[in-house]
Amino acid sequence: MDSDETTIFSRIINKEVPSDILYEDEHCIVINDIAPQAPVHMLVIPKKSIPRLFDASDMDQNLLGYLLLIANKMAKQRGVDDAFRIVINNGAEAGQTVFHLHLHVLAHGSVKGRFSESDLST
Ligand code: AMP
Repeated sequence: MDSDETTIFSRIINKEVPSDILYEDEHCIVINDIAPQAPVHMLVIPKKSIPRLFDASDMDQNLLGYLLLIANKMAKQRGVDDAFRIVINNGAEAGQTVFHLHLHVLAHGSVKGRFSESDLST
């Protein structure tokens, strides 16, 4: 597992790696996924490095709620309305590949690959 400082998302947050930033504030950034699994596939990424959702603590309660509200706002901004899916992969065995907490926001058409229903049910 990468350390917090060396994940690709930390580098994106620190502007060491270019990305398609859709939104940024003091708490999070929202980028387009580099390998989209649906016509809309955004990532909501907290600036605080929490490797997995499982590692979040009571101190992160407000931040976690905030990330969901940002996902709502971004869905509206992208014209998705109320038809979208939020995915958080927790742990390598559940498909997490970048160990800096992030929310996938998927919408507009069928979801493919590892986010398809058959994959999620395994
Ligand atoms: P997960 O597998 O849940 O940890 O999700 C990590 C996601 O990050 C995958 O959907 C990748 O396609 C995406 N990703 C990896 N590197 C980048 C990058 N440089 N810019 C945007 N998305 C990325």
